[in-house]
Parts: sequence; C-alpha cells; structure tokens
Amino acid sequence: MHAIPSGPPEYPEIMTTYVICGEKTAIIDPGPSNSVVDLGFVDTASYVILTHLHIDHVGLVKETMERYKEAKIVMKSGYRKYLTTDEGVRRLNESAREVLGDLVDVYGEVEKTRDDVIEVEDGDTVDLGGKKISVIYTPGHAKHHISLFYEGMLFAGDSAGAVLNGVMMPTTPPPIDLEGYKESIKKQISLSPFSVGLSHGGIVDGKFLEEYLNLVNKGEFNVTEEDLDIGGEKGEMLKKHFRINMKGLKGE
Ligand SMILES: [Zn+2]
Repeated sequence: MHAIPSGPPEYPEIMTTYVICGEKTAIIDPGPSNSVVDLGFVDTASYVILTHLHIDHVGLVKETMERYKEAKIVMKSGYRKYLTTDEGVRRLNESAREVLGDLVDVYGEVEKTRDDVIEVEDGDTVDLGGKKISVIYTPGHAKHHISLFYEGMLFAGDSAGAVLNGVMMPTTPPPIDLEGYKESIKKQISLSPFSVGLSHGGIVDGKFLEEYLNLVNKGEFNVTEEDLDIGGEKGEMLKKHFRINMKGLKGE
C-alpha cells in the first residue's frame, strides 16, 4: 500500500492518493486534474476506485484512465453520468464552483472520461486476485460516498474528517446530510480499523474516528487562526476550506 501526495502544486499534501498493490493494482482517488501525483511506479492498474465524485478526487480520472488502458472505474452505483457524459460533467463542475468558488481554478475542472465503470453498492468487493477490498457505503459528505476496507485498514475518503497542518478539521461542506455523516462514522468505528487513510491528511490511527466523531457531535473544532495562517496560497486554501466546512457543520 502506498500513500502519495496528490494535491495541486500550491498545496501537494492537501490530498492523498492511495495505491493498493496486489496481484492486481487499485488506485484510490487519483486527485484533482492539477495534481502533482507521481504514479510512475505503477506499471499497470486494474481499478481506479473513487470514494466520491468531488473534483479534488476525480479531476485526474480521465488522464489516469488514458494511461491505464485496462483499468475500470469503481464507484457508487447511479452516478456514472457525472463522469462519462458532457451534461453530467458540466453539472459536476458547476456544483463544485457553487460550493468551492475560485478554488475550482486551483484544482482544475473535470473532463469527460471513457465509460468503463463498475458500479458498486455497500457490501460489494473488489477482487485484487485473492485478496479483496470491501466496499462500505458511507453517505453524508456526499450521497455517492463509499469507503474501502482492506486488510484492517480503512480508506475513508472525505467521510471521516481531515488532518491539515497537523490539526483535525471537518469535512462537512454544504449541502451535507449531517445525521447520515455521523451514522457513517459509527459504521466505520464498528469495523475497528487499525489505521485510517484520509483523503485530506494521510494515514492516521484507527482511534482517530472516535475523536473525530466527538468533535462533530460537539459542532466545534479547536482550530485557531494561527493553525490556518500558514501563509501564501496554502494558507488561503486552508482558510477557504475550513470556512466552507464549518458552514456545513453549522447548517448555514
Ligand atoms: Zn475532498
């Protein structure tokens, strides 16, 4: 298993892409289209698994699918049109701009990809040739959000918080289903993962989930101006993201 920074050049570590190498290889969330990700060590890939369809996770899918000709996209059933049709992609970019504003220009827009999709549901598995990745449906952050469980490790996407600049942060942008979000974290806790791979913050201990859920329940995060004030474009991005996520958490 590999964890690779895949954010934009302005903030590479804002995003982490995971690669699981078995007999077959799976890439989880390639990152935004303006990504620094280096997948040079991956010769062939069978799956490009998407935890959900937000632009910072799927912008690079088109290029990744062009590079790995044999790969199939794995995603929650019912949403493939948002990646594989002109109209769907247009709407995906449009709603990203409504929520993220000009951050969309930092991440880059999504382009239509080839329609080679395996649609999955809760409880399905992705076969790496022997070992299997389990699909856990974890709605809340988005209706189309899945998490992946593999050999005791959970890949939580954006369903269980973030750690940026060493600080725990919410992943609750509007429109969020906060009740569903909390239920999803409880479901993840019940799996007792030893580690959790976050899309925004890398790998954390399994205990992270309970700590994070406590903060979501409180509706308050211990994040100071100083935590966010890391300067330059990075600082701007961090502040914008935190503001957007607190809006969702407060139901604004
Ligand atoms: Zn994200």
